[in-house]
Amino acid sequence: MFDTNKVSEMDGIRRIARAYYAKASEDEKNSMQKFFNTLDSNGDGKVTLGEFNKSVSSSLSDENKESIFRQLDANGDGTLDFDEVLALYYMEEKVEIVKCSECSNLLVGPYFSCLMCLETNPNTYDLCCACYQRGKFVHNHSFDCLLDHHSLLNLLRDRHQSADAAITQTKSKWKTALAAFELALSIGSVSTTLCTILSCLSKH
Ligand SMILES: [Zn+2]
Ligand SMILES: [Zn+2]
Repeated sequence: MFDTNKVSEMDGIRRIARAYYAKASEDEKNSMQKFFNTLDSNGDGKVTLGEFNKSVSSSLSDENKESIFRQLDANGDGTLDFDEVLALYYMEEKVEIVKCSECSNLLVGPYFSCLMCLETNPNTYDLCCACYQRGKFVHNHSFDCLLDHHSLLNLLRDRHQSADAAITQTKSKWKTALAAFELALSIGSVSTTLCTILSCLSKH
């Protein structure tokens, strides 16, 4: 059975990949073509599951490979054409293939990441929407440190504003959070303070 959620998430990745391809340099287009040729070992213009399993990263289990293959196969004909492989190229080159830290499902669509882990740990802590919603996980950082990627992007944008601008425009809670974070930075107690700040703010 098709998981329609996953199909539409993969559709988003395909659209991004197609847009990248349209604007790619000749060199990049060549390397995408090479990537396709590597997968298409018999050169018939299509990649079968067998060819796919042989060529993609050995760090993935066969089960995961098959699940990625099925999701990439947009028209469900059992092989991948060039367009469908572009999505894989995008995932391999531009983003890492990320798994949910709790259920190990591949994260191809929107998901949550722990801000504290992103800032302080070599490994990220990522959750699929379902695991986040269920809330049954044990993690050493506050629940409020888990942010979806739109929120993370907003936080990043705010950080690029000067501290002055951020302080004078403090109406939104994120801007307040930023100011408090910078204060925490200046007194050198970031890691213990940030989550407290975030959880205070989220209660308003
Ligand atoms: Zn999960
Ligand atoms: Zn964390």
